Amino acid sequence: MKKEIFLCAINNILSGTCKEDCKFCTQSVRYHADIERYNYKSIETIVTEAKKAKSHGALGYCLVTAGKGLTDKSVDFVARASRAIKKEVDNLNLIACNGTATIEQLKFLKEHGIDSYNHNLETSKAYYETICTTHSWDERYQTCLNVKTAGLQLCSGGIWGMGESDEDRESLLDSIVSLQPESTPLNFYITNPALPIKERNITKDEALILIKKARNLLGEDRLLMVAGGREQIFGGYEKEMFDAGVNSIVIGDYLTTAGDNPLKDRTMLDEIGYKVATSCNG
Ligand code: SF4
Repeated sequence: MKKEIFLCAINNILSGTCKEDCKFCTQSVRYHADIERYNYKSIETIVTEAKKAKSHGALGYCLVTAGKGLTDKSVDFVARASRAIKKEVDNLNLIACNGTATIEQLKFLKEHGIDSYNHNLETSKAYYETICTTHSWDERYQTCLNVKTAGLQLCSGGIWGMGESDEDRESLLDSIVSLQPESTPLNFYITNPALPIKERNITKDEALILIKKARNLLGEDRLLMVAGGREQIFGGYEKEMFDAGVNSIVIGDYLTTAGDNPLKDRTMLDEIGYKVATSCNG
């Protein structure tokens, strides 16, 4: 039987307006990266885009806002967007990705239809202050714990290739595993001339070792996704990535970089002997 791959799509509903200094992120206003920056999209647009993602086979749909964390305004907006999507699109697992969050804010999102919350640890606790000085790793970890307390599914992973050491990689993976997330996105750093981190220090072979370790430590029943950097690391070699244990990918565009056409991804899966999952229950 062909192994199923779960497709997830991302909607950047508030882009490029963040005052934090994460050195890997084009959405920080500090680095003046050449990206599209906009305030909240209209709810109507978000619903239309959710329908399109669903028609391409997405089972998960992630509502992302740039910024350090949820505010009264953003929590209200995400809740309204969530309600509107749930009303018009069936069987779409809604994920919110809005930075640090309190238990109360997360419970509020859950009450309004959000199923899962994505908050990545990004890198190891020890390396974090090298890539960000405006907030702490501990705050990130606490938000992940808050997600679980609020009764939402946790989606938590990180970014590899930002100059971290092998020890940092081990430590990040151990921290993610300690949270027992339902899904884990592995991102590979995408360089941009405006960003302070100039090079990506991870190869395809190192990424494959990481995937195998992550699959082994997280367990067979969890979603293990390759998200940002897939095309850069695994373009043309996707089968190796799935064979190593990945069972989920992002389709369409990423937050500020273009992804492959969703139809091209579906064809690729078919050609290499995998099939698109049609239900979250497998
Ligand atoms: S807090 Fe989030 S949006 Fe802001 S710079 Fe850091 S990663 Fe980017």
